[in-house]
Amino acid sequence: MEKLVSLAKRRGFVFQSSEIYGGLGSVWDYGPLGVELKKNIKERWWRSMVHEREDIEGLDAAILMHPKVWEASGHVAGFTDPLVDCKQCKNRFRADDPRLKGPPGDPNTKCPVCGNKGTLTAPRMFNLMFKTFMGPVEEQAAVIYLRPETAQGIYVNYLNVLQSSRQKIPFGIAQIGKAFRNEITPGNFIFRTREFEQMEMQFFVKPGSDGEWFEFWRAERFKWLQGLGIRAERLRWHQHGKDELAHYAKDAYDIEYEFPFGWQEFEGIHNRTDFDLSRHQEHSGKKLEYVDTATNERFVPYVIETSAGADRTALVVMCDAYHEDDVEGEKRVVLRFRPSLAPLKAAVFPLVNKDGMPELARKLYDALRGQFNVFYDDGGSIGRRYRRQDEAGTPFGITVDGQSTQDGTVTVRDRDTLKQDRVDSGRLVDYLRDKLAG
Ligand code: ATP
Repeated sequence: MEKLVSLAKRRGFVFQSSEIYGGLGSVWDYGPLGVELKKNIKERWWRSMVHEREDIEGLDAAILMHPKVWEASGHVAGFTDPLVDCKQCKNRFRADDPRLKGPPGDPNTKCPVCGNKGTLTAPRMFNLMFKTFMGPVEEQAAVIYLRPETAQGIYVNYLNVLQSSRQKIPFGIAQIGKAFRNEITPGNFIFRTREFEQMEMQFFVKPGSDGEWFEFWRAERFKWLQGLGIRAERLRWHQHGKDELAHYAKDAYDIEYEFPFGWQEFEGIHNRTDFDLSRHQEHSGKKLEYVDTATNERFVPYVIETSAGADRTALVVMCDAYHEDDVEGEKRVVLRFRPSLAPLKAAVFPLVNKDGMPELARKLYDALRGQFNVFYDDGGSIGRRYRRQDEAGTPFGITVDGQSTQDGTVTVRDRDTLKQDRVDSGRLVDYLRDKLAG
């Protein structure tokens, strides 16, 4: 994992937030390549959820919501983690931290950081929502929260979307947006952070058809993830047991990936029943029933949720793409992104900075820039320039050499096979478009 973290910084994928001030705990910034990678993942998700389906609508709800939303959703009362403090070293842990051997509060239990015995407090409940104040007065009545999940923005807009889009049940609402959780034991790079993005889709169905739709969305989401090029043997399902299931959920599966730090969830598919809409109906006093005009039946829809973290998915894609190869006796690090996900699609290099090569390379670069995100590099040996692009995961390296200035052809090097094709520069856009479709 350290190798990936250092590559991410070196190549401009991810930086620690406010690094010059010593960093802010578990908050990360996406650099020039990282923002492209995450955007490509989000766009792919949006395309498959919203554009390619006639039964799903998009939404972008605000991060700040009426505080009653979080009372209705159960987050004010229940979005808590049990916490343990070490009185000696002042570190804080989740009570279920696997490093804790023995019950916290017990005189024989050791602190996993300082090693002292009996210094851990008994677990105390801690709410994970970030609070702030709305308006000029910092008083209890002005408390609002940064949303800890995007789903509630969908539930409270369910009727607005239904009526304005003229959808009929079954239909879904999809949203991508920031969420905030004051996580206690954050870590593992961008795996668990305090500010993150979710890609959530809530599918509203008739009670009784929920089991079928749950299975449908499980299959769809797995297919979508495989489409990202993630190795199937590193993906698995984990069904929530009775003890893990949220109180509102009828069934829930996590999709787990085998990260360098073990198998962990990065997406969940949940059958949330009519819990959310019923609670909002109760707390707001507004009817959220669906009326089936064909049968005159009225019901509160059940919800099948697919909830993925954009950052965790980006981490999955990066971990899965990371490879170390031997090329002619030299080690190279390469990120084997699917071309469609790669932040840069191609890099253009003049073989040497003379004999008309830089001028021609610049001309090609300018022509390609309008079509793809491409990079121009004339610094250092051609081998070093290739290595830098391998680390960035750029699928194609276009080199302008002596022959190019004679006959207008260039070499195109494939990041994975290292094969070089000679391509007429006039055909380059079509050539790349073909190869980038995957
Ligand atoms: P965990 O058990 O890891 O805390 P969760 O079960 O609370 O996660 P959900 O509430 O189901 O997660 O959130 C759905 C998705 O949002 C997760 O699968 C994950 O991809 C993402 N997510 C949740 N919390 C974080 C976080 N702190 N940092 C980054 N992504 C997160």
